Amino acid sequence: MYWKKLSHDKITTRVDEALSENMSYKTKKILGIPASYLDEEQFYDDAPFLENSPFMKTLIANPNHIGCHTLGEEAEPFFKGTQKIEKELIDLCAEEILGGRKAEQDGYVAPGGTEANIQALWIYRNYFLKKHNARLDEIRVVYSKDSHYSMPKGANILNIKSIVLDVDDSARMIVQEDLASKITEAQKEGVKYFILVMNMSTTMFGSVDDILRVTDYFEINNLNYKVHVDGAFGGFIYPFTNENSSYSFKNKRITSFTLDGHKMLQSPYGTGVFLIRKGFMEYALTEEASYVQGKDYTICGSRSGANAIALWMILKTHGSDGLKVKMRNLSDKATSLCNRLKKLGVEYYHNPFINIVAIRGKYITPKLATKFSLVPDTHLATPNWYKIVVMDHVKQGVLDEFVLDLNKFN
Ligand SMILES: *Cc1c(COP(=O)(O)O)cnc(C)c1O
Repeated sequence: MYWKKLSHDKITTRVDEALSENMSYKTKKILGIPASYLDEEQFYDDAPFLENSPFMKTLIANPNHIGCHTLGEEAEPFFKGTQKIEKELIDLCAEEILGGRKAEQDGYVAPGGTEANIQALWIYRNYFLKKHNARLDEIRVVYSKDSHYSMPKGANILNIKSIVLDVDDSARMIVQEDLASKITEAQKEGVKYFILVMNMSTTMFGSVDDILRVTDYFEINNLNYKVHVDGAFGGFIYPFTNENSSYSFKNKRITSFTLDGHKMLQSPYGTGVFLIRKGFMEYALTEEASYVQGKDYTICGSRSGANAIALWMILKTHGSDGLKVKMRNLSDKATSLCNRLKKLGVEYYHNPFINIVAIRGKYITPKLATKFSLVPDTHLATPNWYKIVVMDHVKQGVLDEFVLDLNKFN
């Protein structure tokens, strides 16, 4: 994994160039598009700070990145400058962060992890329907019970049934016997096609599914399956802290990934990333999108080009080396918190490559949870777990104070 860090000036110049390749609502004769620059009363473009703020400048120019720009088709020509940056961003994520081969992946900047996950389910559902003549009731989405709720949400929207796998209460790993018995049961009911979602870090625990063991089961039993990786939480930390993991495009069993910039990269909301091997995006083609040049392959339709610019800028500002240091600092900080919990005899779950620490509910009083804004695993019952997410704003002093308070009660 390597890409260079760029200075703020270089980044600004590159974005200015891209904007100048876009068609400008100010200077060109544009009669046919139901869009414009942002409202001038509120978003005046002569504000002096804009000069050095490429993201804000892009936001006001308001380029639309509708469609998918890695497919090499003739996309909407109006915004080709910033769309080129999006393509560069997708290639960087797929090739440098996730080890993909050059120009062998497609993708786009999605509104978030939820859409990227549903996009994956949508593509595989259509793939099984079209390519294998599957019936809807022969397809299942398979995921662990610690998975994000976008999986049941997507299964519901797409009218596919789910198989939810148990995890071990302490290790948070998928229980092999449960996997075997539920898949066998489904096969007896006539299920032939499986959309398997593996977590490259769950939201609550930071647990990373044992992808080799789980996919081995599908391989050994000769099942027809496709693997999507939900890296909405872990996608911008795990590859930096664990460079030799099996979660990359080098792993032939994986077809697609979700990443979320608006979690670990601290980008603005609207910066999910969907990545998939070439040859699959086409299963999400909406032929009827005939007024969009280059057609549409995404769930969302219109989307702001400024989001792609924001992600690209953040990745380029730090460079791969900078992000490795940053992400390792966060996971190390979580590890040192765990060492102190261990001394206090407090039970917790922590994956050393991730910045989440989940603490058993019995050690946390409601007062402590409120004081430190800990997040429980459920708001509907007595929580079994509370989590701490060591982000940029989580300062050592506050962690120290938390441990002192915890010590008072335990
Ligand atoms: C946050 C998250 C999502 C959903 O992402 P949004 O950007 O909120 O749509 C999906 N999966 C995991 C593991 C997440 O942590």
